[in-house]
Amino acid sequence: MVNNSKSNRSDGGSIRKSYRDKNIVVVGLGKTGLALARFFRSIEARVTVSDSDIADNLGPRLSEAKELGCNVEVGGHTRETFTGADLVVLSPGVPDDLEVLREARSRGIPVIGELEVAAKLVSVPIIAVTGTNGKTTTTELICAIMEREGKRFFKGGNIGTPLIEFVMNKQNVEYVVLEVSSFQLDTAPGFHPHISVVLNITEDHLDRYLTLEEYRQSKISIFKNQDTEDYAIINADDPLLPKDFGITAHTLLFSKENPKAHAFLDKRQEIIVCKGDFYKSGEGKVGEKGAVFNFRNTKLVGVHNLENMLAAALVAFSCGIAPRAIQETINNFPGLPHRLQFVREWKKVKFYNDSKATNVGAVVKALESFSGPVVLLAGGREKGGSYDSLIPLVKEKVRALILFGESRRHIADHLGDLTNTWLVENLEEAVRVATSICKPGDVVLLSPACASFDQYRNYEERGKHFESLVRSL
Ligand code: ADP
Repeated sequence: MVNNSKSNRSDGGSIRKSYRDKNIVVVGLGKTGLALARFFRSIEARVTVSDSDIADNLGPRLSEAKELGCNVEVGGHTRETFTGADLVVLSPGVPDDLEVLREARSRGIPVIGELEVAAKLVSVPIIAVTGTNGKTTTTELICAIMEREGKRFFKGGNIGTPLIEFVMNKQNVEYVVLEVSSFQLDTAPGFHPHISVVLNITEDHLDRYLTLEEYRQSKISIFKNQDTEDYAIINADDPLLPKDFGITAHTLLFSKENPKAHAFLDKRQEIIVCKGDFYKSGEGKVGEKGAVFNFRNTKLVGVHNLENMLAAALVAFSCGIAPRAIQETINNFPGLPHRLQFVREWKKVKFYNDSKATNVGAVVKALESFSGPVVLLAGGREKGGSYDSLIPLVKEKVRALILFGESRRHIADHLGDLTNTWLVENLEEAVRVATSICKPGDVVLLSPACASFDQYRNYEERGKHFESLVRSL
């Protein structure tokens, strides 16, 4: 079980001192970049903030950076700034292959991400969740369980508050729970979570990674600094997650079907968490029932949420949390907006908003979650994955495929022959077509398999637009 008194591996004071008077370039002046600037200025480092955006768009963040005493360069990155740095720190979302970064690296200047800086200064156990899909949901589930148990925790990382802000505020917590993207892992070579979770690996971000293998390596790098005192929680059903790739941490497996896993679903779709292998005392063994959780009263929709719950239950058990808090979370967790979210019923047709499904893996889970006929609305900006894994599900469940946005023709080339397919300009037309062809008992599902940036600012805007179209029927 997690030892809470276990302090982190580093002496925060000496790390902070090591930055004093150093030339630090912070790339990106968003929420995290500004928090980094505040942090480095508070420990008397010399800070230059470099952002490719123009001053007008950076607004008050730019003024604050100046007030903090940072040098600022906006509207692009200059070579001199980077080659004169002692350390370059990236905000999440900044591409790590910029020419200026290559130049800095070639001169031996370290280029790291915010996670690398901040995590080293955390003195309580870090729980880190990664995977292609389900990171936010699982992170929220873990935090919901902790809340019910009365644990004090910080939630952040890729969502919400940047970790560096938490580090500066010195909140008194027992755990830090982080959602971690592959991009963050790529620039955090020393990241050492006490509990790491990898939910799944399916094709995504192939616009940024050359191959699926490269993307996979990025995800599984979350285990690389863990030691025998740590926990690695892994989806045993995922073909891209071999169970034995030299993980040093104590490995806990979850599975939808395999009763040999540490947490699995039985035939009645109850979660069984086995008793043994959680506590270093060695009590119990795998296969011995520890706790059983049922989904009779859950509000969670979708098979994937069972997987997310399995992972969250293993985290909770590893932290010694009482089963009661887990069952109460299953009963009460409302699900998250834009993730297979029920919108309304209209003429006996149920409408679901899954705008956050920006890759094929998420759409697979959405389709697997419905037994009846589905009218599927998909399209947007492609990220380079293949649509092949959708073929059997489209054949089996999709009564009609309505494709919109930039990728509509390309998707139609792959899936268009499998079912009745419409190509339309935008979501408004897609909803119009859907409502004209759906039948009582159908599900109309927005699960786009693509990013939203061709027509929207983000997936939230796309999801809200869908909901407003559906509500005004
Ligand atoms: P992430 O933070 O990894 O993007 P989210 O929890 O925001 O994950 O969910 C993103 C999309 O993936 C949604 O469409 C959601 O329904 C779907 N999803 C959630 N959990 C899983 C899972 N375990 N496997 C596959 N898809 C999932």
